[in-house]
Amino acid sequence: MKRTVILGAGFGGLQATVDLDHLLKSHPDHEIVLVSDQNYFMFTPLLPQIVSSYIDPRHIVQPVRDIRGHRNYRFQRDTVVSIDVPRRQVHATSGPIPYDYLIFALGSQSEYFRIPGAKENSFDFKSLEDGVVLRDRVLDICEHADHTSDPAERKRLLTFAIVGGGYTGVELITEMRDFLFRYVVGRYRGIPREEIRLVLVEATPNILGGFDPMLRPHALKRLNAEGVELRTSSPVTRVFDGALELKGGEIIEAGTIIWAAGVRAHPLAETLPGPHDRIGRAKVNEYLQLENHPEVFVIGDSSSPASAPDAPRVAPAAIGEGKVAASNIAHIERNQPLESYKYVSQGMLVSLGMNDAVVSILGLRIHGFFAWLFWNAVHLYKLVGFKKQIQVALDWSLGNIFPRDAAIIRQPKNCKFCETSRGGSSDPPAVRPPRASAAV
Ligand SMILES: Cc1cc2nc3c(=O)[nH]c(=O)nc-3n(C[C@H](O)[C@H](O)[C@H](O)COP(=O)(O)OP(=O)(O)OC[C@H]3O[C@@H](n4cnc5c(N)ncnc54)[C@H](O)[C@@H]3O)c2cc1C
Repeated sequence: MKRTVILGAGFGGLQATVDLDHLLKSHPDHEIVLVSDQNYFMFTPLLPQIVSSYIDPRHIVQPVRDIRGHRNYRFQRDTVVSIDVPRRQVHATSGPIPYDYLIFALGSQSEYFRIPGAKENSFDFKSLEDGVVLRDRVLDICEHADHTSDPAERKRLLTFAIVGGGYTGVELITEMRDFLFRYVVGRYRGIPREEIRLVLVEATPNILGGFDPMLRPHALKRLNAEGVELRTSSPVTRVFDGALELKGGEIIEAGTIIWAAGVRAHPLAETLPGPHDRIGRAKVNEYLQLENHPEVFVIGDSSSPASAPDAPRVAPAAIGEGKVAASNIAHIERNQPLESYKYVSQGMLVSLGMNDAVVSILGLRIHGFFAWLFWNAVHLYKLVGFKKQIQVALDWSLGNIFPRDAAIIRQPKNCKFCETSRGGSSDPPAVRPPRASAAV
């Protein structure tokens, strides 16, 4: 019995599993095991809409066992702790899992660029839990600000700063803006519209770097019109508990700081043998195999393929790599020549909140309402599972007619920020900026 172990039930890992299961249907002597720490697949592009209470969190995830259906692969919910490549073994919390082939698809983690305080004092925005924590945080802040009589404290609480002007930062800030201005203002009588401040901080001169430059002006115009403060060419130099320091010394006091400034490879990718790029991704050949270990394939956010080292780390790239890795394992088993991975851009779509988006696809560039309809249609189509498609379509429709479901369901554990309204965190206090310079 041979065994292929696939790590990670995200875009890349799931695609590889489903394809390999199909390709090796006639090989009953080949076992496929998918290992992931969550028992669901998450559709990340809709995560910003969890924060704005537009979509129910459960509607963007699909249990792996429902996706599996009649397929033969085995799913093991487990956390991978290390990989012993020379011995061909994965070490998971429940014990070792030997393999003949390995597909590494554990995704990425946030990159903090060694900025002091960045990791400790900002909200991460990568997982479903991050989305739910942030949703509850925004609501918690609004409840607190509503009855705060100190105007300076209220202003600080109502300042939301997002670091990173890529598509994640832009989609998140426009969603939050819609939620705060359309839902919060009016329902929370102690929160005047003009006291809500949304700041998008970007180190480079442009937001949406890598996006079609012809569409950037529209995105900029929309953000400006919506009152989002843009700080481009403003690298963050330090992050405090409740404040950001920009290059040049300016301090922005913010009740909530969200980090969306970049990604680096999963920590376990950095432990794989062979060369890595500057953000820790394993350098693999054009067939996605690790140097000197043709039985190990690395795909998705943790991979830097020789044939597409500069391809953006997005879902279509992970899916494409998943397909190629699965095909190549089947090719090796059948003694056939291997397939090279080529990245073909499918275009880019960025939502700018309600009724607006920018879309660049197959040479077509559109923005505004029709682009927004297109964005919705594409994301609905790409969601995994018909039930999820119906649930999200209903969430969107009802969200335009009825108020959002903005109840704080739970105070997440280990969330020091969420403790603030209950008398302070048990964590050691983080460094605060000197009050004298705390202007803006
Ligand atoms: C907020 C957000 C919005 C995004 N929006 C878009 C978008 O609009 N369009 C787009 O194309 N891309 C988008 N992306 C990027 C896209 O999600 C990634 O490029 C893609 O998910 C990468 O796929 P992957 O298979 O490498 O990893 P992932 O999809 O991240 O999957 C990794 C899997 O590994 C599991 N895992 C991690 N560590 C362990 C461990 N130690 N043990 C076991 N399992 C583990 C995780 O639970 C997860 O299931 C977005 C990302 C984020 C965070």
